[in-house]
Amino acid sequence: MILVLVGQGRSLNIVVGNRFQNMKLCSACLLGIACRYDGKKKKNAKIIKLLKKEVLIPVCPEQLGGLSTPREASEKKGKKVFSKSGKNVTANFEKGAEQVLQIAKTYNIKEAILKQRSPSCGCGQVYSGDFTGTIIESDGVAAALLKKHGIKVITEEDL
Ligand code: SF4
Repeated sequence: MILVLVGQGRSLNIVVGNRFQNMKLCSACLLGIACRYDGKKKKNAKIIKLLKKEVLIPVCPEQLGGLSTPREASEKKGKKVFSKSGKNVTANFEKGAEQVLQIAKTYNIKEAILKQRSPSCGCGQVYSGDFTGTIIESDGVAAALLKKHGIKVITEEDL
C-alpha cells in the first residue's frame, strides 16, 4: 500500500508497506494529482503503467513551495521565475525545489521522472519566460537542483 499526504508545502507522510527499494520521485501531475497551475492533472499512461513495477513518489515542487492550486502560470526568466502578471515567485520555486531534494535525501532516492517544460520540473527544455509558447534549452528549478545533487532526472517523454 502506498499512502502519500502532501499539504501546502508543510507536511509529507509516506507509508509504503515494506517496499522502500527502487523508489523514484515523479511529478505528481503525471500520476493524476490535480496540482497544475490550472487546477488540472496531466495523467500519463506510461507513468501509470510504470507503477506496476516501480514505486513512484509524487511530488509537486510548486505546491511544496507554498503556492496555491490553482495559481497563475509562471515561467523561468534567467535564474528567476515570474508569474504571468509579473509577480516574482522565485522564492516559492526555490523553496519547493529544496523540499523535493529533502524528500529524495530522506529516502535515498537517486532518480526522478519529471514533467517536461515545466518551470519547476522541466529537464532540458522550459518555456522562455515571455509566455509566447517559445521553448528554450534549460532546466526547471527543481530539476536543476536535483541534478546538481547527483540525482538522475528524466521526463515522461523519455519513457
Ligand atoms: Fe506538475 Fe511539477 Fe508543475 Fe507540480 S510543479 S504541477 S508536479 S509540472
